[in-house]
Amino acid sequence: MFPASFGYVAARSVAEALELMAKHGEDGKLLAGGHSLIPAMKLRLQSPRTLIDLGTVAGLRDIREDGGQLVIGALTVHADIAASEPVRRHLPGLSDAASVIGDVQVRNRGTIGGSVAHADPAADLPVILTALNATFVAQSPSGSRNVAVDDFFTDFYTTALNANEILTEIRVPIPAPGTGTAYAKLPHPASGYVVVSAGAAITRQASGTCVAARIAIGGLGSGPLRAVATELELQGKPLTAQIIAAAAAKAAEETDPVEDAYADAEYKRHVAGVYARKAIEAALERARS
Ligand SMILES: Cc1cc2nc3c(=O)[nH]c(=O)nc-3n(C[C@H](O)[C@H](O)[C@H](O)COP(=O)(O)OP(=O)(O)OC[C@H]3O[C@@H](n4cnc5c(N)ncnc54)[C@H](O)[C@@H]3O)c2cc1C
Repeated sequence: MFPASFGYVAARSVAEALELMAKHGEDGKLLAGGHSLIPAMKLRLQSPRTLIDLGTVAGLRDIREDGGQLVIGALTVHADIAASEPVRRHLPGLSDAASVIGDVQVRNRGTIGGSVAHADPAADLPVILTALNATFVAQSPSGSRNVAVDDFFTDFYTTALNANEILTEIRVPIPAPGTGTAYAKLPHPASGYVVVSAGAAITRQASGTCVAARIAIGGLGSGPLRAVATELELQGKPLTAQIIAAAAAKAAEETDPVEDAYADAEYKRHVAGVYARKAIEAALERARS
């Protein structure tokens, strides 16, 4: 299928991209890796008159440490995140997630900013970024603001970003000592997208007691869901196999999973518990080492 005809303009800075967005209004659309937007245009689900390319903006494709946070530029591609030494060292769960997105081509073109701005309910990065308590930095003509991950994903394919904002970076706290992070995914056998997935960040004391847990589940709703019942079940308890199994079984509690031809709600609820346990166990293994 072919998209409707469109114009193209390459921005050279965030400021220029913001000016172009103001100029083109609803007819303009930001382009990052194009791996969600171009397929949507080919299906005529979206028909912007002008694409404003961010790929030509310098300085949005790097990963650096800053004040106890790992700062990831919005244009950083999935493959760079998966291979990044600081990401592997501090946030291996993020590396897990970036490395199972699509195929090699998708991982070398798709960007973290594009993925979270697109907010596909079957995407990987929103789930692990929820477990990692990330913050999103949005730039508009009037300045920049931070949006906490728990407030960012508001509905199917919808975020807290305003129409005049560009996502410039994603900030992830570097976890406290004794923390392990991990991501586990059941991919759809045809598309590779998430059927159900889980991200976990677990902090343990030397005694083996859990002092903090953030667990997120993907594939059940319009965006990533915090598994609050699972988190509460772990906090303050010794991280034994029995306690982890009982906590993980609550991962889909009080959810109303989105059904499709591949997976009904009961199946998704069950698999959410299985993948929550996998992610918690893998995070705990890393917390111990
Ligand atoms: C074959 C295939 C398989 C895939 N499999 C997976 C998978 O298994 N898991 C997964 O998570 N994803 C998967 N994807 C999606 C992939 O990760 C996309 O790259 C990603 O969702 C979008 O990133 P992008 O850089 O390509 O964004 P684009 O397609 O360029 O843009 C997507 C949307 O975000 C907006 N946008 C982009 N950047 C910004 C910004 N900085 N600020 C504000 N708005 C912005 C655009 O205007 C557009 O609306 C797959 C894609 C393909 C084609």
